[in-house]
Amino acid sequence: MPEAKQIKQQPEPSALTEELARRIADEGPMTVAAFMEAAASHYYATRNLPFGADGDFVTAPEISQMFGEMIAAWFVDLWMQAGNPDRVQLIELGPGRGTLTADILRTLSSWPDLKSAISIHLVETSSLLRQEQARALKAYRPVWYDRLEEVPDGRCFIVANEFFDALPIHQFRKIEGKWRERCIDYDAVERQFFFTAQPAKFDVASVMPRDFLGAPDGSIFEISPASLSVMEEITRRVASFGGAGLVVDYGHAVPGLGDTLQCVENHRYSDVLENPGAKDITAHVDFATLKMAAAGHADVHGPVTQGEFLKRLGIEQRAEALRRGGGEAKDVALALHRLTAPSEMGGLFKVMGLTPKGGAEKPAGFGDEVPDDAA
Ligand code: SAH
Repeated sequence: MPEAKQIKQQPEPSALTEELARRIADEGPMTVAAFMEAAASHYYATRNLPFGADGDFVTAPEISQMFGEMIAAWFVDLWMQAGNPDRVQLIELGPGRGTLTADILRTLSSWPDLKSAISIHLVETSSLLRQEQARALKAYRPVWYDRLEEVPDGRCFIVANEFFDALPIHQFRKIEGKWRERCIDYDAVERQFFFTAQPAKFDVASVMPRDFLGAPDGSIFEISPASLSVMEEITRRVASFGGAGLVVDYGHAVPGLGDTLQCVENHRYSDVLENPGAKDITAHVDFATLKMAAAGHADVHGPVTQGEFLKRLGIEQRAEALRRGGGEAKDVALALHRLTAPSEMGGLFKVMGLTPKGGAEKPAGFGDEVPDDAA
């Protein structure tokens, strides 16, 4: 059941387009998750500077050093609450150019005991980005892994900024009263990908919030098993070895229906199916489901908006200090606005924290709310 196609003049297909077209010809339409995974890994494997003014999009650590400084403060506070343990891992998932970890470590210079207690672990699949990270962190000795599961066991502080949104999602579309998996097919004559639907391989309704069961035809439900398994591994580590997790991403705090798959190229939205692998492909992070996955074994804090989180940690005072210290007032004010304003990243991005279940830790930034395990 193909969805309506938009006919466009197509450029010569890229090597990845040809590879995916062959795969579809051999095996039939591919799931959105398989397409997203192939497109994202090609994108990150071939771009070494996707983030920043010259790249396709800008992330919070690339906007200002203040972002990493606030996260460092969050970490220091929890380390002190735990009684200054003498060994702790700093694990970053998807470190991009390495800017966030570099800013955290620079900030920790004021806490030499913590700095000497820390080992640095980077989970990154792109070898080009590993080189960027090695450059940014050459003063330290980070170790790289393809997967979080490979990092040695130990008390850890795990941070993930704009990592979950890059992990593949499955989409299901309701057609004539039945949920079907949204898949991608290829038209060899028009040389373009298009959406279609296939019977779902499992009972989709059983993993869906009850409110969605009666959704009208055309509704789209998304789920990311890859994200859930990373969240379970973060939770397992925090619960078993102590420490904390911090997830910052673009997404929603309450479950919702709808298509959130998107591509960004040169700071603009662009067609998801056109020239896969040449642009960033992401989906909104479903914090409600991640929270549910974590709540069995960890205390979950938030999600709160990035703006609230950063302000509670004192970003406004830090901006003022930078300005007084000679920082260009306009630049500092603009960075503060982009990171915290509700209409900018401050409202669109959410922050969620994890600490050991039933522990005494009170992580900063989340207000006084009692962690809601049941939500
Ligand atoms: N955290 C950085 C970069 C975000 S972009 C920042 O805020 O600037 C996403 C990052 O995750 C990239 O470094 C990308 O190569 C990495 N990545 C994407 N999928 C991954 C996966 N499955 N495993 C490990 N790293 C991944």
